Amino acid sequence: MNTVAFIGLGNMGGPMAVNLVKAGYTVKAFDLSQAALSHVVEQGAMQAPSACAAAAAADVVITMLPAGKHVRSLYLGDEQNKGIIDVVADGTLLIDCSTIDAESARFVAEQAKAKGLEFIDAPVSGGTAGAAAGTLTFICGGSDAAFEQAQGVLNVMGANIFHAGGPGAGQVAKICNNMLLSVLMVGTSESIQMGIDHGLDPKVLSEIMKVSSGGNWTLDKYNPCPDVMENVPSSNGYQGGFMVDLMVKDLGLSQEAALLSNSSTPMGALARSLYVNHARQGNGKRDFSSIFEQFNKKG
Ligand code: NAD
Repeated sequence: MNTVAFIGLGNMGGPMAVNLVKAGYTVKAFDLSQAALSHVVEQGAMQAPSACAAAAAADVVITMLPAGKHVRSLYLGDEQNKGIIDVVADGTLLIDCSTIDAESARFVAEQAKAKGLEFIDAPVSGGTAGAAAGTLTFICGGSDAAFEQAQGVLNVMGANIFHAGGPGAGQVAKICNNMLLSVLMVGTSESIQMGIDHGLDPKVLSEIMKVSSGGNWTLDKYNPCPDVMENVPSSNGYQGGFMVDLMVKDLGLSQEAALLSNSSTPMGALARSLYVNHARQGNGKRDFSSIFEQFNKKG
């Protein structure tokens, strides 16, 4: 398990691949963007001429791509092009760390299984800072054996590695979490603003709610109100952190999943609508806690 093909070297994949290089893995890298590829090659990865060339020479394939359609086409190929599952050696472990729809993850896992290959969906939480620090949380879906086999490489790139269940379960668990996070962020924002509107100090109110029944992760670690907490995006003009555009993407995936399972997710649907509106107002590249401004801007 010493040679890793790493495909998709963007904001997340780039630093993840570099951490594998630093840990002594031989990393065969490929990205459609030469700039992204060169950045990783400069730090010790080997440039591959194509995704399939990288995968054919590896013990483990890791992908970090934008969406389900990229993952499907890369692993499964099409009429003109072979897919990764057509070219890898027997026993190669396939790990997709992209955040995609669970249906695509299940479908690729089935097609891989038909060729005798193990495929894990392993979306991450922790953002670009976690990717650089090697402290990501991986939320995996796949067989017990494949999960066990993936531990070595995942431990290099992450601090918490969870097995959520069978194929697709990692994607479902991740979007359940992010749907809840969005709801908590919106609820925390409107509550703090209502307190401010009634003359309360947001720092004092936050301290009260933190240890009361409204306490939640956003109050503990990521207060959306500027200058309540140090070293969080709200105290830095909502720069860095987790982009509104990515939250919109994850909330779209959660609503697609809810439709498929006929689940009732009214809070998630409302949160998606609020975040879409926020993005349409030019906030897509800002941190997701900037949703606070939807409540505090005076007309
Ligand atoms: P990104 O756009 O920076 O990187 C994606 C990379 O994939 C790009 O460099 C692109 O050129 C490459 N790519 C696309 N199609 C390809 C193909 N067929 N072959 C080779 N390379 C290809 O995106 P990112 O921020 O790194 O996010 C990657 C994934 O991680 C997404 O699914 C995202 O939802 C998820 N994610 C991102 C964050 C974050 O904070 N950025 C956090 C958690 C999860």
